[in-house]
Amino acid sequence: MTDPTGPDHSGSRRRFLQLTGAGVAASPWLAACATAAPSAIPARAMGMPWPDWGTLPEEVPPPPKPGSVGVAVVGLGGYAIGKALPALATAEGTHVAAVVSGNPEKAAKVAAAYGVPEDAVYSYETFAQIANDDRVEAVYIVLPTGLHAEWTELAFAAGKHVICEKPMALNAGECARMIAASEAANRKLMIAYRCHFEPYNLKATELMRAGAVGAIRSIETANNYSANRAHNPSNDWRLVKALAGGGPLEDYGLYGLQAALYLSGEVPVSVRGWTEQVPNDPRFTEVFSTVKAEITFPSGAVTKLVTSYNADNLNMVKVTGSDGILLMEPATYYDGNAMKLLKGGTEEVLMPGDSNLQFSRMVQHFAEAIRTGAAIKTPGEMGLRDIRLVEAIHRSAAMGEVVAV
Ligand code: NDP
Repeated sequence: MTDPTGPDHSGSRRRFLQLTGAGVAASPWLAACATAAPSAIPARAMGMPWPDWGTLPEEVPPPPKPGSVGVAVVGLGGYAIGKALPALATAEGTHVAAVVSGNPEKAAKVAAAYGVPEDAVYSYETFAQIANDDRVEAVYIVLPTGLHAEWTELAFAAGKHVICEKPMALNAGECARMIAASEAANRKLMIAYRCHFEPYNLKATELMRAGAVGAIRSIETANNYSANRAHNPSNDWRLVKALAGGGPLEDYGLYGLQAALYLSGEVPVSVRGWTEQVPNDPRFTEVFSTVKAEITFPSGAVTKLVTSYNADNLNMVKVTGSDGILLMEPATYYDGNAMKLLKGGTEEVLMPGDSNLQFSRMVQHFAEAIRTGAAIKTPGEMGLRDIRLVEAIHRSAAMGEVVAV
């Protein structure tokens, strides 16, 4: 399963649950959520059931190497269990030192699987005590977006370095607070933009810098899936404005937006946005179902971005240049990415490496930056830049006109 938003939007387990109804029947919580308005989920840190994807290691990872950075993982949902914890356990320079969760049974199970001692299992209520836990040097925030700013600030207040999941936060003001907290604590802040460590996206960026398609004229990006509330707790908070902002653009369209920036190597001069909110669909009472944007760069190149919670799976980036085309589909999955260069009537398929390495390489970079003091490749300032663009797209859609950025 490869979809970068985390939950399995196309996998067999979800289809099984749909066919049998087992996902709803097995959990009163899920059954309640399937019928309740999305806003029934409070915008505060609280425990959730076991997510519908992600598995625990069969064996406890070996003890950390000397100098390894101990990381506390906050929020044990699909992405934490599926990707963040395994990355920390397999990277050379990191290990899972603590877990923080509102679900004690889940936390105990995860802790046991990763060899985390019982006294390094924290709840949201006891989190502040982590300040006195020298086994923990850094905190990885894997909570819903609306909780990123608050918990990043709490982690800095506890004197830890922070790696925070994307999107950085709900708005530029929150991002600025997070950066200020990092500076005040004199600790690193990294946004977990995994594609900056993923072989296909790195190769694509290198090719664009080398002029592989000539001068870039346009970039098309699509990041779509159909949000299904009834079967997957991970999709629920994604439909709540206080936890997810406008919805698909912040969560999934961000991959297309980021790709447009690192592939063009430019920062936009203006954006035009359009939003859709399907009427009478209980999924879209608070967030948009689809967001589209046209983003103009100083060179004149234009990005056409579409992202939707109300369309079949698509994860695509296409760069059209004066001399060729780069097509990536899927472009930013966990694995199974595909890329080809079309030029002068020929087609070159490129396979630059194993996409699965992106997760451990990302946390390894974080650890090295902590140890050496080197600059973070995806710092808070990058997260802030992106959220400003997201805000500009939403503003443009609301105003119905182009917005300069
Ligand atoms: P999940 O819903 O699967 O997990 C979120 C977890 O956060 C819950 O299990 C729960 O953990 C905790 N939590 C605390 N308060 C709440 C609340 N009010 N509502 C819901 N959950 C709460 O989400 P994901 O794992 O899919 O996403 C988490 C973060 O990771 C998001 O920022 C998302 O954008 C990011 N993400 C990044 C991906 C990537 O490719 N980089 C892919 C997928 C997600 P507990 O029960 O332990 O308290």
